[in-house]
Amino acid sequence: MELLFERSRKGHHMDLFPPCDVAVRDMDIPLRQKAPHLPELDEVELDRHYGQLEKQTFGVNHGFYPLGSCTMKYNPAVNEEAASLESFTDIHPLAPEESVQGALEVMYRLQNLLAVITGMDEMTLQPAAGAHGEYTGLRLIRAYHESRGDTKRTKIIVPDSAHGTNPASASMAGYEVVHVPSNEKGGVDLVGLKAAVGDDTAGLMLTNPNTLGIFDPNILEITRIVHEAGGLCYYDGANLNAVVGRACPGDMGFDCVHVNLHKTFSTPHGGGGPGSGPVGCKAFLADFLPHPIVVKEGEDYHFKRPEKSFGRVKMFYGNFLVILRAFTYILMLGSDGLAATSAHAVLNANYLMKKLASQMDMAYPGGCMHEFVMTLEKYKKETGVSALDVAKGLLDEGMHPPTMYFPLIVHEALMAEPTETENKETLDWAAEAFIRVFEKGRVDPESLHTAPHQTPIGRPDEVKAARHPHIRYDFGG
Ligand SMILES: *Cc1c(COP(=O)(O)O)cnc(C)c1O
Repeated sequence: MELLFERSRKGHHMDLFPPCDVAVRDMDIPLRQKAPHLPELDEVELDRHYGQLEKQTFGVNHGFYPLGSCTMKYNPAVNEEAASLESFTDIHPLAPEESVQGALEVMYRLQNLLAVITGMDEMTLQPAAGAHGEYTGLRLIRAYHESRGDTKRTKIIVPDSAHGTNPASASMAGYEVVHVPSNEKGGVDLVGLKAAVGDDTAGLMLTNPNTLGIFDPNILEITRIVHEAGGLCYYDGANLNAVVGRACPGDMGFDCVHVNLHKTFSTPHGGGGPGSGPVGCKAFLADFLPHPIVVKEGEDYHFKRPEKSFGRVKMFYGNFLVILRAFTYILMLGSDGLAATSAHAVLNANYLMKKLASQMDMAYPGGCMHEFVMTLEKYKKETGVSALDVAKGLLDEGMHPPTMYFPLIVHEALMAEPTETENKETLDWAAEAFIRVFEKGRVDPESLHTAPHQTPIGRPDEVKAARHPHIRYDFGG
């Protein structure tokens, strides 16, 4: 497909901006000397170009998208309506508080809703992503220990099944990472945990249910062990789909938590668009939160700087339109709706898991929560077909593949999480598609080594794309 620059023809215009009809004032702003290099096209051509691009991408609105750990959420169009209301999009982040009371009310109410959902006392909406929330939470933990003069706590404990951002965030926050192993059921190994904690433990980072889709039955014991050693407990709530409206990290013994609004609370993600990773904490950490947070005094909403705030983590107040989508989504569902979400997320994952269990090895057989992990280790030995080949084969079935090669502790992993709003017919179709591809690998492995055959792009060089991204148009000369 041609780029806009390649399609550009001299003299084609859109006239998006009407001619200026007021006197132009001379201002002392240095102007660029050369006109910018912009493609020249007619409106219709441009419209078709983006139409074509849209057809070549695959979103949860195009088909089944069981991306484990990343929760490809139901994204109702009503969220987009709310997020495009001019009274929200046309305000300035530095507008006086009294002129943007509606926006402040949205933030205040979402802070409170998320605090109830996570079992925390106070929230900040500032962090721009999950990893950013982790960093913020760890800074809270650090601020707490430092406020007590307890500076020998330099280590953060992370289970080996953790999302890669956990050790990375701990390291960014200046901590040394200590890994604890998983037990044979996929939970935290208590013996390993007891051996890891000590008076140098700043805290533990944990996802529950974890990235294997397993709810740790020892969760209260785990948080108790860490607290007894003087550490705090951080809950990675990027993906709350299995527990939202049913169980909350606050009741499991956690002191702070982040949630990904762009996973659990319905904002499209995957294309690198804006995210939001609000962080909640128990009251004893609230004074350290990044500023500002929104408070209500009488009938009015204000920004406030928590007393011992460790600073800011983002300009202004977070990604407001993502916050607005989450607010719309939560109000639309209500508490019963949220609980139905987690019920269906868990039901759908178990249904698909059971349908596939006779055809493929499960890393942890038995029940799962919102996601499950297959291991293609034996299958690959028998057929030569890898998890990557199967994922590519699924593309030809019209499905987005599940997450591959994660968590790292499972070999040839495929990790599937069906969206909670998929109906039984779609899940049956998906199970058949998986089984067709598994079977194809057994009879005609070559066709999977060369898959996909139906998509505009087959197997891009992912390493090259990451290491040497080519993202600027080369005008030559
Ligand atoms: C997605 C995810 C993260 C990171 O979130 P980002 O917004 O991508 O930074 C962290 N932990 C878990 C368990 C996740 O699934």
